[in-house]
Amino acid sequence: MEEAPKEEDVFIAKRVEDCPTPVPGSIIADRRCNQCGAEVWVSPASRPILEKVDRVLCERCAPLEALDPDRAEHPSPEQQVEIVEARLPQAAKELRELARAFPWVPERPPDARHYRTLAPGIAVGFTLDMLKDFAAQHLSIAYTVREPDLETVSRITRAFFGEALSAPAVGQGMCQDGQMVSFTHRYAGATVLHFHKIVRRAG
Ligand SMILES: [Zn+2]
Repeated sequence: MEEAPKEEDVFIAKRVEDCPTPVPGSIIADRRCNQCGAEVWVSPASRPILEKVDRVLCERCAPLEALDPDRAEHPSPEQQVEIVEARLPQAAKELRELARAFPWVPERPPDARHYRTLAPGIAVGFTLDMLKDFAAQHLSIAYTVREPDLETVSRITRAFFGEALSAPAVGQGMCQDGQMVSFTHRYAGATVLHFHKIVRRAG
């Protein structure tokens, strides 16, 4: 009988020739892909991790989509902040444009195009909610890995609303002028933060 191969720590990285620096401050790693020899990027928060792993693979040799999510190591808090920083501006722009083009009447869940995964374990959804008496911008942030870190939340809310908003504790809501502006709850294993900003009132 064949012996099961020893579990190895593998670091998967983007190839230098495939993309410009994926995260600000990334440098070309001093280790190359162990399979094809390609040069790969390493971000500041990933550098200490790269030093410890058994193998390095580029994304062509080990596509991220093929990873078993149960075995994949979630990014460290520092890596999550880096990934969010890198993806947030484009995601916020696309989702704001989508919300304008396809306003949402909150009778059923908004469809998947209103959501973006910023980093493993952090997804955002943005809609323009059309209600009878008013319209509101609605931002949802879902965290599946750990409780949200406040730094990241304020960056995300600033990208969508132009101001940093704070999240209430789980099970709590915050009201302003009689309107619910934010609340936090647990849903399907995730901590979900909701933020509303009234953009138009009837009459
Ligand atoms: Zn490779």
